[in-house]
Amino acid sequence: MSFFRFHYRRLFSVGVAAGIFFSGMNFGTAAENENGFSQREVNDQAVMSLVWMQTSAEYRSLCYQAYNTALERVAMAVAHHRAGDKPLAIVLDVDETVLDNTPIEACYVDTEGVFNTKDWKEWCVAGRAEAMPGAADFLQAVDKLGVDIFYVTNRTEKSGTIKNFRAVNFPLADADHLLLKKTSSYKKPRFEKIADQYDVIVYMGDNAEDCLPEAYDKPFAERNDIVDRHRAEFGTKFIVLPNPDYGNWESSLAKDYWNLSPAQKNEARKKVLKKWVPGKDK
Ligand SMILES: [Mg+2]
Repeated sequence: MSFFRFHYRRLFSVGVAAGIFFSGMNFGTAAENENGFSQREVNDQAVMSLVWMQTSAEYRSLCYQAYNTALERVAMAVAHHRAGDKPLAIVLDVDETVLDNTPIEACYVDTEGVFNTKDWKEWCVAGRAEAMPGAADFLQAVDKLGVDIFYVTNRTEKSGTIKNFRAVNFPLADADHLLLKKTSSYKKPRFEKIADQYDVIVYMGDNAEDCLPEAYDKPFAERNDIVDRHRAEFGTKFIVLPNPDYGNWESSLAKDYWNLSPAQKNEARKKVLKKWVPGKDK
């Protein structure tokens, strides 16, 4: 099931059962509503994270913080770069790392619809994603310093993504710098290919796997252990952008998460909550 990580994540909750011709809407079947819990209610749980990402000063601040930190590392690497050294590069994810896809995510709120490959392809082909706050300025600054930029993404749509990059003034918007998913969402082989030829200054992303591919397809406790082991490298080699709306953090909550029913997803989400009940210490 790991093949469908990232943006194909929600397809599995309904898509496989429904076949490849589903419309993405009207999945309010009896199976979807077991225990009285519907897909619409699952979708509604994303409202606060989407509102936060689309409106809050805090989200923008964290984006600026990430790009400023990365740019400082890039400038430092350029200053220490010597003739004969490998050329410098940065490696970054695309979705919720430099492009904002929250509008396509928000379209399922108040519906029984499920994120699916048909809708996602249409969104990617349209190339309508806006740049995240500060992303274009950051990327242009990196480019001006003569550092290569490799966009390593699990998107599969090349022309729409390049069109989108150009629309929001991202530099190096070409096929040589865009490493799409071919057969697997596991990014390590693509990272290794770049690192063979370049000295990679920073890895950036909204998924732990964008920095540490070994976290791929692991349960959340293991993902946390992997990140803990690399704690000294965050803010230096690894720069992370916030994404409370979706990500492998969600699928790591339970085995075969994307195959779970809405009720089972709701249960998997709520059972990991730590609670302190008022009156407990009296
Ligand atoms: Mg991403």
